[in-house]
Amino acid sequence: MSDRKFFVGGNWKMNGSITQYKSLITDLKNAKLDPKTQVVIAPPALYLLPAKDLLQDNDKIELSAQDGYHKPSGAFTGEISLVQLKDAGIPWVILGHSERRTIFHETDEDVATKTKAALEQGVNVILCVGETLEQREKNESIKVVISQVEAAAKNINDWSKVVIAYEPVWAIGTGKVATAEQAEEVHKAIRDWLAKSVSAEVAKTERIIYGGSVNGKNAKELASQPDIDGFLVGGASLKPEFVDIVNARL
Ligand code: PEP
Repeated sequence: MSDRKFFVGGNWKMNGSITQYKSLITDLKNAKLDPKTQVVIAPPALYLLPAKDLLQDNDKIELSAQDGYHKPSGAFTGEISLVQLKDAGIPWVILGHSERRTIFHETDEDVATKTKAALEQGVNVILCVGETLEQREKNESIKVVISQVEAAAKNINDWSKVVIAYEPVWAIGTGKVATAEQAEEVHKAIRDWLAKSVSAEVAKTERIIYGGSVNGKNAKELASQPDIDGFLVGGASLKPEFVDIVNARL
């Protein structure tokens, strides 16, 4: 097993309420979490600052925004800038999530621009990539994923502040998880690309996590793969089984 720190992110998406975020965070704070896992949760932006208050006495759980806009300020109604995330003390941001790419039509170029802005602010990035079912059926998974990583990579100068999340679109929120072999194949291809195009050191240290219908039951097998360094979890991050996913390597 590698010595890369296992990373589990919980993407709450546009779910929850004041009551729910309080109880989810309180339960997580009280849970027995593997101290070797880095845990990052991404509540809706509205709850980030109150969540930060709730986590004040806690050093196990970090916060992430679900997106961030590259312009520092101005007439961009509805957006939250990376400068503002930094100002608010939010250390992570998810960028390029497939829901942003498909529903909100974000391009590789948009994701690259946001990645640059995040890193300029010292905000860590969970960079999401992944192919659609149609692309997988045409045998294009690796080509698509590498081109998405490559597009953002041109704006990444510090890979220690980036975690790559491989999230096949067909597995997100569908209950259809990639097999451990399918996920490992793509993770390895990303790592090989990093070795060839960035450096051997980055390839060795970069965390590449898997997302797409991960749950308390399938996490252990996926976590046993040599190039899977953790998970980005949607649906199950709102349930008690999130703790089992955090503890998948125990
Ligand atoms: C996600 O949205 O990043 C995700 C992986 O969702 P789910 O776990 O629900 O498939």
